[in-house]
Amino acid sequence: MPLTLYDTMTRAKRAFVPADPRRVTMYVCGPTVYDYSHIGNFRPVVVFDVLFRLLRRLYGDDAVVYAANVTDVDDKINARAAAEGVPIEAITDRYLAAYNADAAALGALAPTVQPRATQTMAAIVAMIGRLVGNDAAYAAEGHVLFDTQGFSGYGRLSGRPLDEMIAGARVEVAPYKRHPADFVLWKPSKPGEPEWPSPWGPGRPGWHIECSAMIEQELGLPIDIHGGGIDLVFPHHENELAQGVCADHGHGYANYWLHNGFLNMADEKMSKSLGNVALAHDLLKVQPGEAIRWALLAAHYRQPLAWTEEALSQARNSLDHLYGVLGRARHVEAAGGGGLAEDQLAPLLDDLNTPAAMAALKKLAGDLDAAVRRDAGSAGPVKQQLMALAEVMGFLQAEPQAWFQGGADEDLKARIEGLIAARDAARAAKAWSEADRLRAELAGMNVEVMDGPAGATWRIKEQA
Ligand SMILES: [Zn+2]
Repeated sequence: MPLTLYDTMTRAKRAFVPADPRRVTMYVCGPTVYDYSHIGNFRPVVVFDVLFRLLRRLYGDDAVVYAANVTDVDDKINARAAAEGVPIEAITDRYLAAYNADAAALGALAPTVQPRATQTMAAIVAMIGRLVGNDAAYAAEGHVLFDTQGFSGYGRLSGRPLDEMIAGARVEVAPYKRHPADFVLWKPSKPGEPEWPSPWGPGRPGWHIECSAMIEQELGLPIDIHGGGIDLVFPHHENELAQGVCADHGHGYANYWLHNGFLNMADEKMSKSLGNVALAHDLLKVQPGEAIRWALLAAHYRQPLAWTEEALSQARNSLDHLYGVLGRARHVEAAGGGGLAEDQLAPLLDDLNTPAAMAALKKLAGDLDAAVRRDAGSAGPVKQQLMALAEVMGFLQAEPQAWFQGGADEDLKARIEGLIAARDAARAAKAWSEADRLRAELAGMNVEVMDGPAGATWRIKEQA
């Protein structure tokens, strides 16, 4: 069964055929690092991480090159640096580190390369030079602009009449533009702002050109997959595509365009009880990263995602169930299944149908639990299937105990385990009232004790 992906350019699901299966290339637009990122910005991080994992599974870990850029020069960065009286690097280093830590907490593998705009200046200036040389761009009043009227393919990706797109995106009308849709490749910096030398005067690049230059430098044209949020189709990806094609006549730019839908945060109840949950950085303080990941993947990536407290609570419950099964099956060796069966991957191969794949995970967990209860020989192969499918989705990477005990520090763990050992001893001695007293003491600490065939396990209950 081949991988099929919905391609925004052709508006159809197409079988995925990489240009070179030994070097599969994917680029996803990354963050502008001037502050902590909104949880909605982590939806593509998690969605394209699943695709990255799936491609690695299909073509081999070393055959997939995934680039995600970092925009580290921008008006908002300049404003923040000026407000704090620090160089822009102090801002961008701080928020890039936080972004990467938050992405890792959500179970995302690090991209193969993470180019930064400020470290790609030579390639950016060279590409603008080629666009000017090809008459695809023009210099005017210290700016360099892309000539949209000169590129007949302009508007093909977004597929809407140009006038409508311009109205929707509120493009800047400026006297130095030949057409309102023409966009900036290079512009002068304001006094006191960082600037770089160029043949058109000192300044800095526009946003769109950085991605085109990085794609060419890091991956080579054309790439297999270009991804990002649906809000990037116009103007950002339309402009990236125009630049990439016109700078390098005779080459395509991206063979498959993938876009994830919006994350809609409209839950009053959630904002009241969880405070500022708009930022992944804050949400991660009150929710396990894996539960947030589960909630981010609970809708198909092209559908809008309703971000609610209930969705997060369901995610936790689902993972509690899965980890509970793994805890009961901890003595079972995950082996004997001969790798992940093709039909288990079928939902993901069908345009990354993560909700169906998560249902398949739950089904396998049910099968594993039943096999463990019956003490059946099939438990090993089922556990192997479950763990292999979970790995492709970036789930169940923790030990069951660590999942249930998340949030407990070492002192608390030692105290809880001491009480459980005392309770086990009391039960063994048939000292039932003492055992009940210890159980109540644990409950008072918000600890739930779960007795199983291989001894008791415990978890910190979610605060009601
Ligand atoms: Zn981009």
